[in-house]
Amino acid sequence: MANIVAIVGRPNVGKSTLFNRLVEERKAIEDNLSGVTRDRHYGHAQWSGKFFSVIDTGGYVTGSDDVFEKEIRKQVKLAIEEASVILFVVDCHDGLTGLDKEFANELRGTDKPIFIAANKADNMEKMLMANEFYALGMGVEQIYPITATSGSGIGDLLDQVVSCFSEEGEEDPDAGIPKIAILGRPNVGKSSFLNALLGNERSIVTDEAGTTRDAIHTRYKLYNKDFILTDTAGIRKKAKVKEDIEFYSVMRSLRTLEDSDVVIVMVDATRGLESQDVNLISLAIKNNKGLMIMVNKWDLIEKDHKTMQAFKDDMMEKLGENKWIPIIFTSALTKQRIFQAMELAMAVYENKNKKIATSKLNDKILPEIEKYPPPAYKGKYIKIKYITQLPTKNPVFAFFCNLPQYIKAPYTRYLENRMRENFDFQGVPIKLVYKKK
Ligand code: GDP
Ligand code: GDP
Repeated sequence: MANIVAIVGRPNVGKSTLFNRLVEERKAIEDNLSGVTRDRHYGHAQWSGKFFSVIDTGGYVTGSDDVFEKEIRKQVKLAIEEASVILFVVDCHDGLTGLDKEFANELRGTDKPIFIAANKADNMEKMLMANEFYALGMGVEQIYPITATSGSGIGDLLDQVVSCFSEEGEEDPDAGIPKIAILGRPNVGKSSFLNALLGNERSIVTDEAGTTRDAIHTRYKLYNKDFILTDTAGIRKKAKVKEDIEFYSVMRSLRTLEDSDVVIVMVDATRGLESQDVNLISLAIKNNKGLMIMVNKWDLIEKDHKTMQAFKDDMMEKLGENKWIPIIFTSALTKQRIFQAMELAMAVYENKNKKIATSKLNDKILPEIEKYPPPAYKGKYIKIKYITQLPTKNPVFAFFCNLPQYIKAPYTRYLENRMRENFDFQGVPIKLVYKKK
């Protein structure tokens, strides 16, 4: 079993403060000032060379209309099902409360290791209060006084927590799983798309009890394939003013883009490709991301058999040289082609990771070069001898030749086109480099 720590406890004891302290902060969004908050309740942490995941179970169940009792049960159930170690947080300021006892009762059923963290042990007096929690009767050898706000006491606690893990854990348990980001202007239909997609065959691996609307980084399974969807939907709902909305959707887009393998740029069919969309697309290309365009709200377009092609042609013209970007026409409302859209994103991911054998490359491309060799430069003949794909994360091809410096952009375009004709690199930026041989 993976190393997972679940934090449980009644509201306001400091669970989310502790969570934020434990998980890598770099991914958290700190934009509370604007009122745009997207709490994360699942993250990765590390202590003493062991990697583990942390779930703030409280984050998943508060804010509902549920009565406390039900809430407690839900938190504890989530923790027991998902975690290998349970961190039960109580509060030295308030001391032992009835709700704490109810948590203890619910937790008693499990054989998973439980640690009691007595939070807000800000000073000596409060630290002594921690002893009061032995009365919970959980059979723990020790209560750990901590201060989540300053971090004091957390090291001792973690030493014990990680000693329960038999394995080192994975640095990033999501490594190797496609990360797909859905970007686009507010109102193009990102949330609707997600809901349409996941409402059907839905299986969330890590976010079981979570509200999908709030998950910014959620692992899903569709047709037996794992993937991680990051979306920027939902931000709008919490932003206060319009300027914030635009600003934060751009900011989030940038971060999400950096953290993904494939970017789906969602465009509103009724508006066509707008300048922001084009900016996003160039940014994705610059960052070597897999890329596709999803023209949503296709149901709103009055169309005949020529409309789609006309739309495509128009977009292609705006995309200039980047005609390798696939375009799909969808409706999140009627669910038209929404699963094909995900399949296309997965295909783009495959293309991005494609490795082509040197022999195959040379068999296909050398004849194309012979047919149309690089133009001589200042009377010097340029001879490309062979081609090989470099072992890089994104497709890069090295063309070995006598005079690499004399090959110009138009010839590179010729080569790229031949490469794309012979091998499927739909949706993926490819790079050609020339090396001296
Ligand atoms: P949650 O509802 O259990 O997730 O609790 P929060 O993490 O939201 O914390 C509730 C309040 O307690 C916030 O105002 C925190 O700043 C405060 N708090 C959290 N940890 C500490 C601590 O170690 N000492 C003190 N004095 N306050 C804390
Ligand atoms: P987001 O801001 O990108 O997440 O956009 P939403 O998913 O919240 O959608 C914005 C509005 O567009 C909502 O009123 C949706 O019902 C509507 N909408 C989304 N997708 C479609 C679609 O494919 N067709 C139509 N006609 N409306 C849609």
